[in-house]
Amino acid sequence: MKISQLLKQVNKSISFEFFPPKSKEAEIQLFNTIKELEPLNPTFVSVTYGAGGSTRDRTRNIVKKIHEETNLTVMAHLTCLGHTKQEILDILEDYKNIGIQNILALRGDVPVNVENFELPEDSCKFAVELVKIIRENFGNYFCVAVAAYPEGHPESPNIERDIFYFKKKVEAGADFAITQMFFDNTFFYEFMEKIQKEKINIPVIPGIMPITNFKQIRKFALMCGATIPEELVKKLEAVEDKPEEVKKIGIEYATKQCIDLLEHGVKGLHFYTLNKSDATLQIYNNIKHLL
Ligand SMILES: Cc1cc2nc3c(=O)[nH]c(=O)nc-3n(C[C@H](O)[C@H](O)[C@H](O)COP(=O)(O)OP(=O)(O)OC[C@H]3O[C@@H](n4cnc5c(N)ncnc54)[C@H](O)[C@@H]3O)c2cc1C
Repeated sequence: MKISQLLKQVNKSISFEFFPPKSKEAEIQLFNTIKELEPLNPTFVSVTYGAGGSTRDRTRNIVKKIHEETNLTVMAHLTCLGHTKQEILDILEDYKNIGIQNILALRGDVPVNVENFELPEDSCKFAVELVKIIRENFGNYFCVAVAAYPEGHPESPNIERDIFYFKKKVEAGADFAITQMFFDNTFFYEFMEKIQKEKINIPVIPGIMPITNFKQIRKFALMCGATIPEELVKKLEAVEDKPEEVKKIGIEYATKQCIDLLEHGVKGLHFYTLNKSDATLQIYNNIKHLL
């Protein structure tokens, strides 16, 4: 089923993001997580894609397994940077053949620490080109999602420029967007105001990253340009060596963030689960009366 249709049917959507595990043990762990989260009846789940195609088969196999072995609607992330156009077409054709109808169309990050990295001549350079390839070759078969950045993409000179290119992805046929993680809802509300002024009307679902491991999330946030409010940093630094305390503060913070977003009328919440169910389950239990 296409997520664009499901979003029209549900009042509030919740969704979960997973990454493709590297080992058999990690895969068992992921499917245990999925088993624990499935009863929450998410609108969809998604599976990330390694930059440059590094998880091409693993992403595809996990997407297929979720599609075949659970009742969940699944979306495959696909990054285009580094793939030839033919490779992209093959990947999409394969997803169509196994019944997958939802693609998160991304550019991916330019690989660092890769010596002599060269793009194939016909590689897409921006996500908008991938959205166009999907629409030109598969019409409306796929529901296409794209990424949005409430604080602006780190490579963008300013938020206005980033929104200018975000609009191009929407005009090329994106059905909805999921945001990069953010920890201060003001960025999201200001972003929504700006895109509404640009007459961008697709659903934009906030991406929620519960902080369960401060060092790890601080590193992610730095890489993607997400600001962690000073007050929250101070609270977390004070308990940095006490993982249970960090998790408690992270869950409390994400709960407040989600309640505020729901009260502001968001269409849904997309949880970055890091393949674990615990934090997401606790937040869900805290907010379920609002869903
Ligand atoms: C919800 C979500 C899921 C993600 N999942 C993954 C994943 O599974 N795997 C992964 O590797 N990464 C993932 N990412 C990270 C993403 O790949 C990076 O943020 C990447 O750097 C940008 O991808 P994009 O699709 O937003 O690119 P684009 O939309 O192409 O934008 C990239 C940059 O280029 C600029 N730009 C766009 N078009 C043009 C143009 N025509 N001319 C000049 N500048 C332009 C934009 O303003 C922006 O600064 C995800 C991000 C989000 C928010």
